[in-house]
Amino acid sequence: MDDSLSLPPKKWPELKSGWVWLCGAGPGDPGLLTLHALNALRQANVVVYDALVSAEILEWAPKAELIYAGKRGGKPSAKQRDISLKLVDLARKGRKVLRLKGGDPFVFGRGGEEAQTLVQHGIPIRIIPGISAGIGGLAYAGIPVTHRDVNQSVTFVTGHDQSGDTPGSIDWEGIARGSQVIVIYMGMRHISQITERLILAGREPSEPLAFVTSATLETQQVFESTLGNAVEDAKAYKIKAPAIICIGKAVLMRQVLDWKSIESGQLPRNLDPLSRGRPAESA
Ligand code: SAH
Repeated sequence: MDDSLSLPPKKWPELKSGWVWLCGAGPGDPGLLTLHALNALRQANVVVYDALVSAEILEWAPKAELIYAGKRGGKPSAKQRDISLKLVDLARKGRKVLRLKGGDPFVFGRGGEEAQTLVQHGIPIRIIPGISAGIGGLAYAGIPVTHRDVNQSVTFVTGHDQSGDTPGSIDWEGIARGSQVIVIYMGMRHISQITERLILAGREPSEPLAFVTSATLETQQVFESTLGNAVEDAKAYKIKAPAIICIGKAVLMRQVLDWKSIESGQLPRNLDPLSRGRPAESA
């Protein structure tokens, strides 16, 4: 049986010579790619990819030259400006360029900067959104980023800026007051300052917190903690990047929605973790 994935019949966009498609690869599990991403992988003759793009996804671009532009794994870091100019150069050489980024290219991925440089240099682009780790990664941990009984808003925030510091411009007190659920990207380095500021701003140390590492991959791990114990637990569990951090009562929903554990034969820990006693919704 030929089980190679074929795109459903439709007139799919053509990746033309001299174009750059800036595309999200999702959080890791190749099944979370979009059909537009698959269409792009099939046509590209060069793929410029980041550290968080999984190897299996790159195998789906057999015709393409692969260029690594990431910053992890002990390999030297490519400068953002150099990456953008490399894309301009490849496009000008008439290549069919796919710029593949982890998650969504416009969520803490500097996709906006790269796209802007391309447009400034007269290079035609297409943007292909992807599933961001802060939404899809948490879903694989059984954590809904919004839940009617918990929150009407959610804040996605980065734990450090370009300089590596916690972004001075972030109003942690405002976030602490205004957002019942907080999802932190790149938060491990400054976890102690972040949790301290949130507690000082009035959040309860007992508030649920989860770390989800390598979300959606086979190696995914989820560590449950609290705002007050997060620093200690991160050390004790030796939590490794990439990790997404979720703070708020939505984390408790994992006790009933941890579908990966259910899939492997475990029973849900608690069918009503928020103790709402809400009857099963009628049809
Ligand atoms: N554009 C990406 C985010 C890039 S910033 C997106 O939309 O998902 C890199 C940060 O994203 C990491 O430090 C981590 O906090 C988070 N991240 C990305 N992929 C992840 C994964 N598979 N598991 C856990 N965190 C992930």
